[in-house]
This record gives sequence, structure tokens and C-alpha cells, in this order.
Amino acid sequence: MNNDPIHIIGGGLAGCEAAWQAAAAGATVVLHEMRPARGTDAHQTDRLAELVCSNSFRSDDWAYNAVGLLHAEMRRLGSLIMASADACQTPAGGALAVDREGFAETVTQKIGGHPGITIERGEIPAIPAAWDNVVVATGPLTSRALADSILRLTGQDTLSFFDAIAPIVHFETIDMSVAWKQSRYDKEGPAGDSAAYINCPMNREQYEAFIDAVLAGPKTEFKDWETVPYFDGCLPLEVMAERGRDTPRHGPMKPVGLTNPHNPLVKAHAIVQLRQDNALGTLWNMVGFQTKLKHAAQTEVFRTIPGLEKAVFARLGGLHRNTFIDSPKVLDNGLRLKARPSLRFAGQITGVEGYVESAALGLLAGRMAAADRAGRTLATPPLTTALGALVGHITGGHLEGEPKSFQPMNINYGLLPPIEAPKRDENGQRFGKAERGRAKKRLMSERALADLDAWIEAEAVQAPE
Ligand SMILES: Cc1cc2nc3c(=O)[nH]c(=O)nc-3n(C[C@H](O)[C@H](O)[C@H](O)COP(=O)(O)OP(=O)(O)OC[C@H]3O[C@@H](n4cnc5c(N)ncnc54)[C@H](O)[C@@H]3O)c2cc1C
Repeated sequence: MNNDPIHIIGGGLAGCEAAWQAAAAGATVVLHEMRPARGTDAHQTDRLAELVCSNSFRSDDWAYNAVGLLHAEMRRLGSLIMASADACQTPAGGALAVDREGFAETVTQKIGGHPGITIERGEIPAIPAAWDNVVVATGPLTSRALADSILRLTGQDTLSFFDAIAPIVHFETIDMSVAWKQSRYDKEGPAGDSAAYINCPMNREQYEAFIDAVLAGPKTEFKDWETVPYFDGCLPLEVMAERGRDTPRHGPMKPVGLTNPHNPLVKAHAIVQLRQDNALGTLWNMVGFQTKLKHAAQTEVFRTIPGLEKAVFARLGGLHRNTFIDSPKVLDNGLRLKARPSLRFAGQITGVEGYVESAALGLLAGRMAAADRAGRTLATPPLTTALGALVGHITGGHLEGEPKSFQPMNINYGLLPPIEAPKRDENGQRFGKAERGRAKKRLMSERALADLDAWIEAEAVQAPE
């Protein structure tokens, strides 16, 4: 192992996990954290791995929940973040919640006490050219100077500062006896497909009731540091409706160039379109539906759309400050910047969402950076694992020709390749739809853990003590 240090910038969830994993693999690490010299709009302390909002790591159910599966995978790889969370648990039913101060203190002490890791406090405004192995893990609130310098490295239009996200729906929950696939005017896309969108028709009554509900629904208020400049091409749905009841109908919901095969003689008054969101075709985003409606209201209002009555949302819409790079364009599947391969990115800045997902990418980036130092390459875990699916989402989950659709996301089963679930249980009883869905999740989780074990063995990955 070459003893030159790996420089990890950002002592949050991703940076701490990366440092721990790289040091456990025998590398020398310098972890740079700007707090307390320079703060962010959300962090309150100088501790490493501070949780800026909720104290929950979400479901801990490995068999039936994708984030629970990610917990299980990370534990198998000796994750510092998971071990510290387990040590600082507070009661939360099936979720893993932590005592936030105890958690951050535990991580800070473990990192501070590791002989292979040096902590340097202070902002890194630009990445020194002499550093030959770097992990950037500066999170959604990356300092302005560093963001500017990343922008210079990655090129214009590859860094977002606000996250205007539209809801994403699991394909299997869309009622295709009401909705249909067609592109406006049957226009062929770059992949040669003229039926690239799913369309949900609305009559006048349904549209008027929908607009009333959007206008009246409770909205999330921004904290004052979240002053968002709206771009005209990306207005929240309710802002559009406030400008005029028919504005959405002349914008993303326009009913032109489309014929409903279920009812060809009746023209829809408005049409909601969904666009394929991942290469597997399991997830579809609602075009132009970025919104500040509260999550419960979104579920209620969007289920009034014909075809979406039983929609299950992989992610709901939102608008908040979030610095993230256009990973599908600029990163390779080793999390390296294509334009400067000595730089890796990890955590929320890559376009994953959430504490656990951020730490998970830190885990991989730290391992991969250490492998580089040892003169070898660590393969990405298979797409069938939650870890591999996250890398797939950020580096290959978008569709060719539509990189703008790349948006941050939590881990969910829709990011993993589908699996056929049995139609009957072991006693020959026919499964209902919900039971079949559960059986499918269990099979996907079992496949993930088996494939992760095979990867650990093939790559000779040693989990830290
Ligand atoms: C306001 C807010 C609330 C959120 N709430 C939740 C939630 O409830 N649940 C959830 O799962 N996720 C939440 N997230 C999303 C996300 O999961 C967390 O932000 C998570 O902490 C991301 O981990 P990270 O390691 O990528 O970034 P962070 O944990 O933010 O760590 C990045 C670190 O880099 C440091 N840094 C930044 N710039 C520099 C620089 N130039 N030089 C040196 N250090 C630098 C920062 O001080 C920080 O310590 C929230 C995000 C925000 C912004």
C-alpha cells in the first residue's frame, strides 16, 4: 500500500464512512472538515456526521424494505455509520432512530481515535492539483467556493443548487386500462420509440377539481435560507395554477397530439404525462409536477388523476436547496470524475438522497480509493444489490439523450432489476396482489444479500472490525 494520503473533503455521513473504510483497508487518510471555522445553513455543531434534520435512518427491515436492505448490506461491510447508529438507538418501532448527539459523538471519537486518519479543520475552497487521490463528500450544502471550483472542473450545467423534484410512481401501480403509452404526435425519441410517455386523461370536471385541490392543499414553507429563484421552465405546479387555472393545461398537462385508445372519440380536457425514469422501466416520473404540496396532500391529490388511483410513489415531489452534480454525465461507475479520475465523489452531492444512501456511497468511495492506493481496482457491486443499484442510479440510471431528468433519489426496489414472484405460497394457496408484492421484495432482498456475499468473496473485501 502506497502511504501517500487519500484526501477526503467533508466530515459528514459520506466522508466519515469513506475515511473509516479507506483506513480499515490500510490507507492513510486526511479528513478535511470546514466546521467550525465555516458553518453551513443547517449544521449546528462542530461534530462529524451531524444529522441536520430527522434522527431516523428509516426502516430497518432488510427483507421487505429497500433502505433496511441497504442497512444490512452496509453492516456486512463493517460500516462505521451503521455500527454507530446501532450503538445509539432510540425506540422507533421498525425504524432505526438514533440519539443524534450520541451518534455524532460516537462517530467523531471513532474517527478521531483511528491511527490511520488525521482530521484537518478548515474549508477546502478548491482541490489542490497535487492531491492525487481525493474523495469529495461535501454534501448538499457544499461551500460556495468549492462548488464554484467543482463547476470549473465539471463544466457548465453540471451542478444543481436546487432540487425541484417531481413525484415518481412505480409502474406496476399505474392502471393501464385507463392510461396509455404514446408520445405527443407519435414523435420518435432518440431511442426510436414513439410511445415513450404514459398518459392519464382528465375531463373538464376532473381537471377543475384537481386544480382546486392543488391550490387549496397545504404547502411546505421554506426556511428563510431557502430563497429559491424559480426558473420559468421548472415552475412548481401550484405556482403555475396560481398564475391561471388553465396555465398547467397549456403547459405540461396540454391535451394535444394524443389519442386515448381506450376512448378514441372523446378528447381529453387535460393530460398528465409520465416519463420513464430508470433504464429498467420500473419507475416513471410525473412530467412538470414539481411541487411544494405537503407529502400527504400530494398522495391524496395525485391519486385523483385517472389511472393513478392506486399509485404507489417511489418518491414525492419537493423543492429544497441541494448541491449535486450531474453524475450520469460526469462520473464513471467507479465514482470517478471522468475529466479528472483522481477525484471521486460520494454522498448527497452525487445525487443520492438520504443519510443512509449518502453513507453507502462513502463506503464504496473509500474502499475504491484505498484499492487504487494498493494498485488494484475494486469492481462495483452488482446492480442486484442495493449498493450497486445506487451506483446504477447515479451513473447509468438515466435515459440516453435525457440527462436533465436526473434527479436525486432514495434507495427503493424500483432501482433493482425486477424478479418474478411465485403465484402461490408453499401450501399451494394463490397469493393476492399485496402478498405477491411482499414475496417479490423478499426475493429481491435475498438475491441482493447472496450477490453481495459473492462480490465480497470475489473482491476479497475484508470488513473492518
Ligand atoms: C436541511 C436538510 C435536511 C435534511 N434532512 C434529512 C433527513 O431528515 N433525513 C435524511 O435521510 N436526509 C436528510 N437530508 C439529506 C442528506 O441525507 C443529508 O444532508 C446528509 O447529511 C448527506 O450526507 P453527506 O455526507 O453527503 O453530506 P453532509 O452530512 O452535509 O456532510 C458534508 C460535510 O462537508 C462539509 N463541507 C462542505 N463544504 C466543505 C468544504 N469546502 N471544505 C470542507 N468541508 C466542507 C460540511 O460542513 C459537512 O460537514 C437533509 C438535507 C438538508 C440540506
